[in-house]
This record gives sequence, C-alpha cells and structure tokens, in this order.
Amino acid sequence: MAIVGCVHGEETVGKKVIEALKNMDIIKGAMLLVVANEATLRKRTRFLDQDLNRSFPGKKNGNREEKIAYELKSLLQTVDFVISLHSTSTNTKDLVIIKKDTSGVNKLIKAINPLRVVHFPKGFGDGALENHHKAALAFEYGYHYAPATYNKSLRDIKKVLVSLGMIKGVSKSKAKNKTSFFSIYGSVDKPRGFKMKNIRNFSLIKRGDTLGWVKKEKLVATENFYPALFGPKAYPDIMGFKSKRLSNK
Ligand SMILES: [Zn+2]
Repeated sequence: MAIVGCVHGEETVGKKVIEALKNMDIIKGAMLLVVANEATLRKRTRFLDQDLNRSFPGKKNGNREEKIAYELKSLLQTVDFVISLHSTSTNTKDLVIIKKDTSGVNKLIKAINPLRVVHFPKGFGDGALENHHKAALAFEYGYHYAPATYNKSLRDIKKVLVSLGMIKGVSKSKAKNKTSFFSIYGSVDKPRGFKMKNIRNFSLIKRGDTLGWVKKEKLVATENFYPALFGPKAYPDIMGFKSKRLSNK
C-alpha cells in the first residue's frame, strides 16, 4: 500500500495526511508514504517544469517532473495499491478519480464507499499517476486547505487500511453512500475574458443553460452533460470536463 501526497505541491493536504499516517500502528503488510514533489511543496507551487500528474511514465533523463514520474512509477510497482491525494479549488466535495477499471481499483472503491467516482478514459489525463499502476486512484476531496478535506482524506484511507487488515478497526458492514459513477467524455473551452457562472459539479446542465459570460455576451451549454471539476480557477484553458452518468454498479 502506498499513499502519495503532493503530486501538486500547493495541495498541502497530502503532506498533512502523510504526517498523521506516520503514527499508525500497522499490524499487517507495509505502508509506503511518499511526498511526490518536495520542491513544489516548499514553494507552494503546482509544478516546476511541467504538471507531474501529466508526466507519467516519465523519463530517466527528462526535466524535473519527468524524472520524478520515472522514479515514482518504478517505486510504486512494488506495492499492491496506491492512493494519490489531491485537493481542488472547485466545489467537487468527495470525488474519487480513476483511470483504470481494474479489480484492484474496485476493491479500493468498495472499501472507501465514496459519494462519487469519475472515470477519465483513454485520451483524458493519460499522463496521470493513476494511469500507471494497476490499482491506483486519486482523492479530490474538496477545497485546498479546508479542514474537512484533511479529515475526509484521512478517514477514507483508514477505511481502506481496515479493509485490508493493515490496522485495527471496525469494518462497517453497511455502506453509507450510494456511489454514483461518471465518465468523462469531453471538456468545455474557456474563451479569454470568460466569467463563469457558479456551476454545481455533477448537477445536470441542460442544453441552453447559462455557463457564464464574455463581457455581456452569454455563453450557453450546447448539450446536456454533468459538469466535472468545473471552477473559475480550475484550468487555464477549459472550464472543466463534461461527463455522463453511468448506471450504478
Ligand atoms: Zn492536484
């Protein structure tokens, strides 16, 4: 089991959770705790040369993030499960992000019982860590620096550790959440000078609904979709992702 924090250095929740996990009494197996991008954590910045979560599988002699990706990928092949910790500027609440629909990933999802899972299929974020391990997923658990983000991240990691028999604890038999599954299929371009409406992630947007404005001109949705990771500061060039809701597993 590996817990990876600070793939994005400004998302300091990963470091905090890792500090808390250092005191766990592991009774079975081993837990690897990795602060992925120390230099960006020190500078409270997202990356130095390029986004680390777009850099996998990395390069042995590449730029700084490519080298980290290369070494981290090889290190993570030694563990059965990986959870990568992120936080967001958007109103996504508890979101688990997956790239692969493997039995290992599904085992983690079952233990976590999250509110929502979003799948990024091939072509979306292929350079992410989650795409380069057989049983890896990412937490995108709420606002940067919010205490709830830390608490929920730590709580759900503990659920996984209990389910794997790695720490003592009571496995709750009844799942609290009915997990909703979404799949990304596109993104919405953000024109220059765009001012986004307050959009609730994973709440259906219908064709014709207002997304925001460029000066006084209104921009509307051209089709129905579920917005994922929409936020005014989420991405430089897109508003966020379009997803479809999958029938529950
Ligand atoms: Zn992140």
